[in-house]
Amino acid sequence: MKRRIVVLLVACLFAVSGMAQKNFDTYFEKKSLRVDFALSGNAVYQTAAVQQLREEPVWGGPRRNLTDPFEYGGYLVRVYDKATGELIYSRGFNTLFEEWRTTEQAKTEVQSWTNSISVPFPKQAISLEILGRNKEDMKFSPLLKQEIDPASIFIDRGKLKDNKITRIQYKGDPASKVDLVFLAEGYTADEQDKFIADARRFTESLFITPPYNSRKNDFNVWAVGLVSEESGTDVSGSGIYKNTALNSGYYTFGLDRYLTTPDIKSTRDAVWNVACDNIFILVNSDTYGGGGMYNFYAMGTADNKQTAVVFVHELGHSLAGLADEYFTSEVAYDEDFYNIKLEPWEPNITTLVNFDSKWKDLLSPGAPLPTPDDEAHKDMTGVFEGGGYLAKGIYRPKVHCMMRDYGPFCPACTRAIHQMIDYLSDK
Ligand SMILES: [Zn+2]
Repeated sequence: MKRRIVVLLVACLFAVSGMAQKNFDTYFEKKSLRVDFALSGNAVYQTAAVQQLREEPVWGGPRRNLTDPFEYGGYLVRVYDKATGELIYSRGFNTLFEEWRTTEQAKTEVQSWTNSISVPFPKQAISLEILGRNKEDMKFSPLLKQEIDPASIFIDRGKLKDNKITRIQYKGDPASKVDLVFLAEGYTADEQDKFIADARRFTESLFITPPYNSRKNDFNVWAVGLVSEESGTDVSGSGIYKNTALNSGYYTFGLDRYLTTPDIKSTRDAVWNVACDNIFILVNSDTYGGGGMYNFYAMGTADNKQTAVVFVHELGHSLAGLADEYFTSEVAYDEDFYNIKLEPWEPNITTLVNFDSKWKDLLSPGAPLPTPDDEAHKDMTGVFEGGGYLAKGIYRPKVHCMMRDYGPFCPACTRAIHQMIDYLSDK
């Protein structure tokens, strides 16, 4: 019996040491290896293929927190030291391609989309793996594995366009701060001052919103002044097409208010020389709309009345991996965007399949499960049915939240935001 306990203890110690973070300087230089890759496929299958490798001069991500404890997102990049096989870096992310795979179009067409991820630049040969999450069991499987020699002549080390970079807020070394980067989209050469003013206004609105108001010192904020030939953005459903830096537009997947860009190459080119943990593409338009994908980018318009809250909502997706808690609006996805037989990965919704992994410890005393949406329970943290675009089978933590209807963030979202800020600022 005693021996068994010892064996268990050793197993626990091994598990903990396996998770221990690696020493950045042993494996990496303070630069980035950018990997552009295609995801191709349809509703049923997907494949990945490398398009280009680039050495870029800045690494703005954490230097202590190198292996991702959250593993949010539909994809995961893992970097192994080739000589020892040790996992030395990992990070989860989402893509727009993954959403496209859930649309009607993906049932009859095959498409290929460009994506991009940056990892710290390795000192020695690595093995880089891109994994996708299976819909059947929510686990990750490899889509691509490739050895990369950091001295290879096949890595592009060239400079790209020097866009004007403005410090909106600087609180310290990018490794220990969340570096939020605004990109100008649909601002002409004459509108660059407006872009900086808009980025400042958005920054102010973020840092008066809880919980960001208590974390202002953990952020650097940058603005990259991309010049567009024309003002605004595409509204393809109305026949409007503008020549803009990042090729953005409404009517993503046919939905009028869904504003995104598939042009990830231009988006990553724009941040090649700036410390970047998170991208917000600010679109010079007054029309309601936006979008945001975890560790990919978020987007919103500068001049709509609801702009400030749309920004904070979309940043919830792109920074903290939060799900939409609404379930009554029109969306482009099939009803099977979430499989209610499996626990989703997002921290603020649950199918109750594995509620222990979510906000069980934050429940209000006496909250029944599920929690009725009525007067007696309206202020409780509970398990309210409806969320993730589904009225049945998915549950959210509070009646109202920024991720549902622009109310204050619920306790589960608040905690997830704090955890991500801690991670990205190397706490
Ligand atoms: Zn919430």
